[in-house]
Amino acid sequence: MKTQLALPITKVQNSRIAETDFSNLVFGRTISDHMFVADYKNGEWCDARIVPYASLNLNPANATLHYGQSIFEGLKAYRNEEGKILIFRADANWRRLNESAERMCMPELPEEIFMEGLTQLIDLDRNWVPTAKGASLYIRPFMFATDDYIGVKPSDTYTFIILTCPVGNYYNKPVSVKVETTFTRATEGGTGAAKTAGNYAASLYPARQAQKAGYDQLLWTDGKSHSKIEESGTMNIMFKINGKLITAPTHTGTILKGITRDSVIQLAKDWNEPLEERFLTVSELETALQEGTFEEAFGTGTAATIAHVQRINVNGKDYDLPQKPTDAFSHRVLAELDGIKYGLVQDPHKWILSV
Ligand SMILES: *Cc1c(COP(=O)(O)O)cnc(C)c1O
Repeated sequence: MKTQLALPITKVQNSRIAETDFSNLVFGRTISDHMFVADYKNGEWCDARIVPYASLNLNPANATLHYGQSIFEGLKAYRNEEGKILIFRADANWRRLNESAERMCMPELPEEIFMEGLTQLIDLDRNWVPTAKGASLYIRPFMFATDDYIGVKPSDTYTFIILTCPVGNYYNKPVSVKVETTFTRATEGGTGAAKTAGNYAASLYPARQAQKAGYDQLLWTDGKSHSKIEESGTMNIMFKINGKLITAPTHTGTILKGITRDSVIQLAKDWNEPLEERFLTVSELETALQEGTFEEAFGTGTAATIAHVQRINVNGKDYDLPQKPTDAFSHRVLAELDGIKYGLVQDPHKWILSV
C-alpha cells in the first residue's frame, strides 16, 4: 500500500522487546512498543500519530467512564516464511467498527486513517510479530468518548487508538460450554450487534457463574424465549448435525457479525458443504445430542479462530461430545484458514493485506 497519510512518528527511546519472553505470552498482557492515536474534535478527526505505548491522562468526568460510549475491534497479523506480515481481513474490521460507531452515536472513522494507522504501526513494530507456530500479533483498535462532562448525551470528542499484542496459541484445548437460559446477552433492538464495551460488562456475571460450575464459556440464547441458540459472547457458534452446518443468522441484531464466522461460511460455500443460517433451538440441540445425529460444535472468533467444543451442558445435563474425526469440518476449515493467514495456500477472496 502506498503511504498517503503523513503520520508523525515518535519512537520509543528504549524498546521493551529484548526483555519480552515470547515463549510465555499471556493473551493481552504484553503490549508492543508503539500505539496509533487519532482524536476527534470540532466534527473531524485530527492529530493522527504514532507514539510510544503509554498511559493516558484520565479526567474523572470522562464520559466513557460514566456512560460507556466505547467500541472496539479485534484482528490479527501473522508472519509468513519470508518475514512478511500478513493482516487478515482488516477492511472488514474497519467496516464493522463504523457499524458499531453508528449504533453507539459515535463518529465514523475514515478508511484511510484506520488502514494507514494500522499498516504504519505494524510496520514500525514488525519485530513484535511472533515467529512461533500458531502465534500472531493481536491488534486492538478501539474508540471511546473523551468529553469531560457528566451530563447524559453523546460525547462531542473521541479518541481512536490501535494497540498490538504478541500472542501465542489462544485456545489450544477444547472448551466446555453451558447453554444459558436465565441471563441474556442481547435482545432485539438492543446493542448485541455492536462490538461495544457494555455488552461485555453485562456478560461477566453470568460467565463467572458458569466458570464456577466448571464451564469455559456460555452459549447465549435469545432474550425473549431462551429457546434459540445465539452465540458464545466472544465467539460465534456453529454446529454440525446430520451432515449440515448450522449457525445463527445475523438479521435480528442480537448476534455479533463475526469476521471469522463470515470466513467459515464463505469456505463452506466454496466447498459445497450444506450450511443453514438459522437458529438452532435448544430442544433440537438436546434431541440431536441424545439421538446421535450430533456431529460437532465449534466457536469461531479472531482470538481462537476455531475453538473445538468438547462438552455442552443443556438444561442441566452434560453431554460429552464424540471425538472428532481428523477430517471433521472444523479441522479442515481451521487448517485452511491457518494456511491463508500464514500465506501457505491460495487466498482467492483477497483476505490478506501484506505489510
Ligand atoms: C468479536 C466477537 C465475536 C467474533 O468476531 P470475529 O470477528 O470473528 O473475531 C463474536 N461474538 C462477539 C460478541 C464478539 O464481540
